[in-house]
Amino acid sequence: MADKNENLMDKIVSLCKRRGFVFPGSEIYGGLSNSWDYGPLGVELKNNIKNAWWKRFVHQRDDMVGIDAALIMNRKVWEASGHVTTFSDPLVECKKCHNRFRKDQLEKDKCPDCKGELTEAKQFNLMLKTFLGPVENTDSIVYFRPETAQAMFVDFKNVLETSRKKIPFGIAQVGKAFRNEITPGNFIFRTREFEQMEIEYFIKESDWQTTFEMWQNEMKLWMTDELGLNKEKIHELEVPKDELAHYSKRTIDFEFDYPFGKKELYGLAYRTDFDLKNHFTQEAPYADLESGEKFYPHVIEPTFGVDRSVLAILCDAYAEENDRVVLKLKSSLAPYKVAVFPLLKNKPELVEKAKEVYKNLKQDFVTIFDDRGNIGKRYYSQDEIGTPFCVTVDFQTLEDSTVTLRDRDTMKQERIKITDLKNYISNKINH
Ligand code: ATP
Repeated sequence: MADKNENLMDKIVSLCKRRGFVFPGSEIYGGLSNSWDYGPLGVELKNNIKNAWWKRFVHQRDDMVGIDAALIMNRKVWEASGHVTTFSDPLVECKKCHNRFRKDQLEKDKCPDCKGELTEAKQFNLMLKTFLGPVENTDSIVYFRPETAQAMFVDFKNVLETSRKKIPFGIAQVGKAFRNEITPGNFIFRTREFEQMEIEYFIKESDWQTTFEMWQNEMKLWMTDELGLNKEKIHELEVPKDELAHYSKRTIDFEFDYPFGKKELYGLAYRTDFDLKNHFTQEAPYADLESGEKFYPHVIEPTFGVDRSVLAILCDAYAEENDRVVLKLKSSLAPYKVAVFPLLKNKPELVEKAKEVYKNLKQDFVTIFDDRGNIGKRYYSQDEIGTPFCVTVDFQTLEDSTVTLRDRDTMKQERIKITDLKNYISNKINH
């Protein structure tokens, strides 16, 4: 089983590179450890996930607004939030080979590489530092944000005043976060630069349990209904009290069965009023509607890693069936929705008609045109990148304006009028 799974990761990494989902970063310079670039198909998949998330959790709700804050914030933000002092992992070093590891991720008290003895653990701060401005001294040190969350707290009053929202309401943000991870790895699972989709949901303290459960449910629905992940591979872990982050009173990790083991995909935390209290020290930032009394709202935080979503989706969708590899992606997430082919490349009348169909479909769907090799190969090539529909223009098309439409999962082909294509495909994608 382990072998099969290791193999699966290799196959996914290789498919990602070969087909343009994810490339090793800075590759022509020998790469940069654990940095990855999303290629033409990867960026489409990733954008589809982020757009679906924004639509579902911001646009389709009345109680949510979004922001897009700066990656580098005033250093005081991270002092107030506790990150400067506590955002760290226990680091150990092998006394023999000098490799470094995260102690809490090791199974034994020996170096996993050479079995050497390990040093005592010391806390290693994960924030990535740089200097702002032309002078490099301690005053100019700033941090790349290790989570998007803090901006939602720091901007809380500005959002409140401009959006006129009343609690319960949430602020959402999608963006990059940076952590100087001790042991990055497992492809895009753990990197030093990654993307998060986060919500800070502001409530009255007395509502925390019901709101926590509401978001627990929303997160499950997102994973199954929107991402199409297999329910059986999703698990909930109640984080034990002694392992909670410094700001949390309750946390659930949603774990996914990745090929390299059951690992955290998302998190849901009750952050209490910890952050607002630390940032708004002079006066509580929220006034009760009736009494006018000022108080600190409490916060439920659902957090979603974009890259871990991409990886879970790819692992779950990858299938080998007879002689084809197919990515059974939800149609709404697939990079291309439709591929259009002329049956034969050397028949100008077919090519011309196929280009016309392609241009029309392109107005509504991300569409690709392909006339290389034989039709069978073109189908397989699209299966491998998860394109749900292939449309072939043949000689009959020239007579009756119909095309064959081939379904990725069933491989069934049906004859359909060109004028019906748009409706047919959009209905299928939206269901
Ligand atoms: P882990 O225990 O795996 O280090 P965490 O509990 O520190 O993760 P959070 O601080 O809860 O993670 O971050 C929220 C989400 O951001 C995670 O659920 C995950 O999806 C994503 N994430 C965190 N760290 C990374 C990373 N280094 N690379 C990619 N995604 C990450």
